[in-house]
Amino acid sequence: MGEPLPLDLVNTLWIDHGAWVDYFDAPGALEEWLAAAGLPGGEGVGERLATARAALRRALQGDTAELDAVLDHGATRPRLRDGAPYEEVIVDDPDWHAAWVVAADFVRLVAERGERVRKCANPGCVLWFLDVSKNGSRRWCSMELCGNRAKVGRFNQRHREVANAD
Ligand SMILES: [Zn+2]
Repeated sequence: MGEPLPLDLVNTLWIDHGAWVDYFDAPGALEEWLAAAGLPGGEGVGERLATARAALRRALQGDTAELDAVLDHGATRPRLRDGAPYEEVIVDDPDWHAAWVVAADFVRLVAERGERVRKCANPGCVLWFLDVSKNGSRRWCSMELCGNRAKVGRFNQRHREVANAD
């Protein structure tokens, strides 16, 4: 997972050759994602995560009503264990645990680094990232994918302009 957890969840849905692709459609992908995130699974978890994913995408576009609805399923309670404080996650249904944790993590991410959360500059790309570059100049989800595609696009455009000038 290169991106923070909430953005990584958002990026499990992308566009390939004009069609939406859902990473979780692949067998075992959901379990793998949950394991990598250290989150509990369960029968209804996939559906809740998909709800949270849609809510996060809406929230990134400025509409937080669905995110609020996800967050309403849980809360944290401060605890002490062996002198160390931690926050216990309390949800109204265990199937909401993973989705709630990701949604809460998103709120933290926006609070701490909101100005660095960006959508890929490729208009045909729906991926999001946290810009951790020193000067905050990152524009692409991936230089290999969208960055180079944009460069090639500009190159082709220049090439055509030159060709037209002849
Ligand atoms: Zn991209």
